[in-house]
Amino acid sequence: MLQQTTVQTILPRYQEWLKAFPDVRTLARAPLQKVLKAWQGLGYYERARNMRLAAQMICERFDGSLPDRYKDLIGLPGFGPYTTAAVLSIAFGQAYPVLDANVRRVVMRLAGTTGKANQRHDKFLLSFLSKFFPDEKAGEFNQAMMELGALVCKPRNPFCLRCPAQNFCLAFKSGEQELIRAPRARRSERIETVVAIIKEDGKYLIQRRPAKGLLAGLWEFPGGKRKPGETHEEALRREIREELGSEIKIGKLLLKVNHAYTRFQVTLHAYECRLKNRPQAGKKPFRWVSLRSLRSHPFPSGNAKIINYLEERALIMHETKRKNSLSLDWRGSGRG
Ligand code: SF4
Repeated sequence: MLQQTTVQTILPRYQEWLKAFPDVRTLARAPLQKVLKAWQGLGYYERARNMRLAAQMICERFDGSLPDRYKDLIGLPGFGPYTTAAVLSIAFGQAYPVLDANVRRVVMRLAGTTGKANQRHDKFLLSFLSKFFPDEKAGEFNQAMMELGALVCKPRNPFCLRCPAQNFCLAFKSGEQELIRAPRARRSERIETVVAIIKEDGKYLIQRRPAKGLLAGLWEFPGGKRKPGETHEEALRREIREELGSEIKIGKLLLKVNHAYTRFQVTLHAYECRLKNRPQAGKKPFRWVSLRSLRSHPFPSGNAKIINYLEERALIMHETKRKNSLSLDWRGSGRG
């Protein structure tokens, strides 16, 4: 959960998650859509999916108890060397060192290794770390290293003069602490998408994304990426023809949403549309749902912003209608 945001923001979400899935068996039995819904907005949906799969394997193979052996844990979905070492050290007190981006930078500086702080150095860093890694309290040690990296030994301007590791830090001794660089952040791709907000008999048409790939299993309004050279209208007509086999009449632009995902940034243009002929289920199954039940489906964050807009618009329309009818009543009674 903490991959994309701060502890403060995540705490209420974490509590909600624990309430919905208080133990491994509940998570293992939960429908995937419920798990994705509880994860909505946190990004990296693969993690939620893997946690559910891991819970199922833990129930089937380990009678519902988290295994405490490296070879068992590393075989669970979503468990790489980092997560496995973190769980074994923090939950079971076993002497496994953890190397995340923060710890990697700290250990590189302690060892006096310069260059980009990336995984190429891990083998050497783990062997360096093993020289002073404690047999006991491994979890506390790992967490202390993570905190040291996050709060003191920062990527730029580390607080060396306040650092408890100052006396045995080779980078500090040689004044080279700034020569350890973070790997260059990948530039995120910009994508423009168009979506159709189609409403009939009070219900909206939504589709489910395929079970594999990006944002797998989430629901969305129909539409897709604009190809180079296409206008929004052309892209929308092509997407709806490809996905639903329907022709559409395009109405006004309802709203434009900017949303940043982990690896790309999306500008989403939502148009009010009408179908000219009945839709057919293609690769993505579709369903018609009321405004209220849109909320019970898991959506990617960009689409969730459209739902907020639709709800707000419905509320304003309802209020306006109520005020108009009150004023008509008042005029009516005045005449009488
Ligand atoms: Fe990092 Fe400076 Fe501490 Fe070395 S002395 S570990 S460079 S904060």
